[in-house]
Amino acid sequence: MMKEKYLGVNVSPLTYEGIISDLRVRLAEGKQSTIIAVNPEKVMSAQRDPEVKELINASTYQIADGVGILLAAKIKGGNIHSRVTGVDMMAKLLQFAESDGHSVYFYGAKEEVVTKAVANIQAKHPNIQVAGHTNGYEKDEKALVSKIHQSGAKILFVALGSPRQELWIRRNLDQLPNVQVFQGVGGSFDVFSG
Ligand code: UDP
Repeated sequence: MMKEKYLGVNVSPLTYEGIISDLRVRLAEGKQSTIIAVNPEKVMSAQRDPEVKELINASTYQIADGVGILLAAKIKGGNIHSRVTGVDMMAKLLQFAESDGHSVYFYGAKEEVVTKAVANIQAKHPNIQVAGHTNGYEKDEKALVSKIHQSGAKILFVALGSPRQELWIRRNLDQLPNVQVFQGVGGSFDVFSG
């Protein structure tokens, strides 16, 4: 897939539907995929910190979350014409998880927030398989990773804020071979809990 580049930072030109159909193929091939939201703050942070740039560029899909990216695309004459926000991408992945039977794990946010978000999601998607959830203030990372691994989750949402969630995903990707889709979702559990 051709990526657009903004100040050295990759952005995927795929729409929500494009990402889902690409993911379907990657899942069938047993490949792991990571989704990261890109906004002007992250592009600027990537200018200061080569590790941030590398972290973004090494992700499978860099979604154009901020309107600033759209504006840059317009000025540059780029191929990105609409936003792909983190929270809407998560909503599309939940639909996909329900329709294709992939179980989902939710990690992050405060206990009451993640519990309420999961309850709301289950009410909206009665056939979704929830592998589990853990709040984002859990200190024992090793135990958590083992719990997620044993849960059999295929899709993992990590809501710790940036760059904490992206670093967490990178650190634990290899320990979670059963998880095939990772998305760093920032404050999205707070949105789903409302
Ligand atoms: N959070 C967490 N653990 C932490 C710090 C933050 O689970 O150690 C959660 C916090 O409760 C909130 C989310 O991470 O739900 C941060 O959302 P924010 O909107 O700040 O992230 P952004 O989208 O700006 O990266």
